[in-house]
Amino acid sequence: MRILIVEDERKTAAYLQKGLSESGFVVDVANRGDDGLDLALEQDYDAVVLDVMLPERDGWSVLAALRRAGKQTPVLFLTARDAVPDRVKGLELGADDYLVKPFAFSELLARLRSVLRRGPGRQPESLRVADLELDLLRHKAARDGQRLDLTPKEFALLSLLARRKGEVLSRTLIAEQVWDMYFDSDTNVVDVAVRRLRRKVDDPFPQKLIQTVRGVGYVLEEF
Ligand code: CA
Repeated sequence: MRILIVEDERKTAAYLQKGLSESGFVVDVANRGDDGLDLALEQDYDAVVLDVMLPERDGWSVLAALRRAGKQTPVLFLTARDAVPDRVKGLELGADDYLVKPFAFSELLARLRSVLRRGPGRQPESLRVADLELDLLRHKAARDGQRLDLTPKEFALLSLLARRKGEVLSRTLIAEQVWDMYFDSDTNVVDVAVRRLRRKVDDPFPQKLIQTVRGVGYVLEEF
């Protein structure tokens, strides 16, 4: 899942980016309201973590512009001000939840998961392909009831393949979605990652799910 953080305090932004990346999310950061708005309009994020107090264009204005443009991306507001009128204003503008600073990262993660779960037209909470099960909110995977021990990137790769099962995904697309990198598609980063993933997901089981499409990329499919 892709998350956008809009936060002008660089330390806070870096802390959130690190924590969310380690939790398996692909994270972009904007330090200014207008940059955040541009990104949120251009890209399809699963959620936006939006600071209220931003220089020039503040969080209220970003949210209002986003909703005016018809974007229903769930928004979790971060506010240093916990006054009731502020909360009401945020919710009226279409924020999905808010968190008062300072907050514990674990609380942010819990709120974010709940926002992702409730959001309009959101991704399903879990995916199943044959005997493979993915819990997308808790980042857990199992096959035949056996827990698979995956790194955050391996989980991100597997959930991308599972979400778009039956569809051949190019290495370039995979690199972009999982690593947030735009690199030359003949690099073998993706191949190496898929090989590692297969060792955990397919090798111990008779039914192989990850298929190679030569010269194109990979597809997750049950035969
Ligand atoms: Ca701020």
